[in-house]
Amino acid sequence: MSQTVIQEIRPWDRPFWKPAPHKGAVLLYLALIHLLAIIGLLLFPLPSPKIIGLAFLLAALGGFGITVCYHRLLAHRTLRLNKFVEHFLIFWAMFNSGGSPASWVAYHRHHHSHTDTPEDISSPKQGGFWWAHLRWLYQSARADEHKWCPELGRGPYQFWTYAHAPVLLLSICCGLVFGWQGFFWIGAIRLVYALHMQCFVNSLTHLDHTEEGNSSKNVWWLGPLQLTAWGENWHKNHHSNPGSARLGLRWWQPDIGWYLIYALESVGLASNVKRTRLRR
Ligand SMILES: [Zn+2]
Ligand SMILES: [Zn+2]
Repeated sequence: MSQTVIQEIRPWDRPFWKPAPHKGAVLLYLALIHLLAIIGLLLFPLPSPKIIGLAFLLAALGGFGITVCYHRLLAHRTLRLNKFVEHFLIFWAMFNSGGSPASWVAYHRHHHSHTDTPEDISSPKQGGFWWAHLRWLYQSARADEHKWCPELGRGPYQFWTYAHAPVLLLSICCGLVFGWQGFFWIGAIRLVYALHMQCFVNSLTHLDHTEEGNSSKNVWWLGPLQLTAWGENWHKNHHSNPGSARLGLRWWQPDIGWYLIYALESVGLASNVKRTRLRR
């Protein structure tokens, strides 16, 4: 096997600052929002309640977008959603730096089918914590969207792929209408926070290396920090039952996304919701 091929199989051996081919823009984006967030925290360490409230609202909408729409609907098809609700949630998922539906779902299905193996795109078992947390975003090869989710390369989903950059630009800059404090807090600081709460699902909830086969684990304290994506922290539950729309399987495992699905189902906006019944 040539040296180049080995390098492709073990991309975590690259220097951390070196993006994979065609992923320089991802690294630039990550560096930009972190830089802006640091500047914002230094200039406005205590924002007004209105600014914090708006940042929280956008992060909450994005959390629902990721967990209900990207994860449970598009990646695992564990329910059906009214099309208006679906595309409304896609917008907010992208607005919270979730990427386009096709790229998110391709990476995610790839992760499930290769969990913990050298082919797993974001495994801490293979590449360590920082690889699983952030580095894979700009150093791994792209997951093939035609192979993993051909259905998301067509129709309205294709529009979202083209809309990705404009939506992100809007997301970074929109807070400026409330002044510089709004610019930093509603833009970069919110984006950095939302990004790391998503990244913890790849890194922190896969740090259980003691068990054979699957490293996923439930991390209870991560849930409240994930705001409306509280439920994604029950990641061991999810790997054990990927076909269930419900991630918090016990009554003492809060799952905000599940509560939204339940509410949407009760008013007829969600259907075909797949549930897992636990054996006692
Ligand atoms: Zn999943
Ligand atoms: Zn996982």
